Amino acid sequence: MKLICIGRNYTDHIKELENEKPEHPVVFLKPDTSILLKKQPFFIPDFSNDVHYEVEVLVKINRVGKHIDKKFAHKYYDEIGLGIDFTARDVQGYLKEKGLPWEKAKAFDGSAVIGDWIPKQTIENVDDISFSLEKNGKTVQNGNTKFMLWKIDELIEYVSKYFTLKIGDVIFTGTPSGVGGVKPDDILVGHLNNQQFFSIKVK
Ligand code: ZN
Repeated sequence: MKLICIGRNYTDHIKELENEKPEHPVVFLKPDTSILLKKQPFFIPDFSNDVHYEVEVLVKINRVGKHIDKKFAHKYYDEIGLGIDFTARDVQGYLKEKGLPWEKAKAFDGSAVIGDWIPKQTIENVDDISFSLEKNGKTVQNGNTKFMLWKIDELIEYVSKYFTLKIGDVIFTGTPSGVGGVKPDDILVGHLNNQQFFSIKVK
């Protein structure tokens, strides 16, 4: 399985990193080895001094598909989740400046937190999901999928032009503003529609 991640999908986050608003979705992949094992702490890798959390709504693909039209995209997922796209921001800054691929900053072991899943049917509208991240008990990120530049079904249409979607693939749909650094002993807790989806200790 693969993790398909979307960058720059919320205007407020584009502004905070002083990035340009993209013409098309920014897409990158993480391998399955990037998934943080359940109940395990996140270890800050030794090649970075500035690892950031990015809380993101997740979509789990349940059918094989390619060239999916957005009006059929809703048939390709029935679970919604919440996770973190950990990013070595210093490494990413260097790679961006050189025009190099982002994998070393984004796809390293443990960089993908996948929390609990809930059935899509329990959510009234996937384009109006509120979610947040708390660091050490204080809310640091607050988002709602209604502020996505490309909504979930549009992302499925777009990414399936390039990659065949397979059962179990996960789409990370991008992060809102409020990203920031982590240090040992931080506790990161994610909520979606007021329900806790994960709690991660940083080491
Ligand atoms: Zn991200």
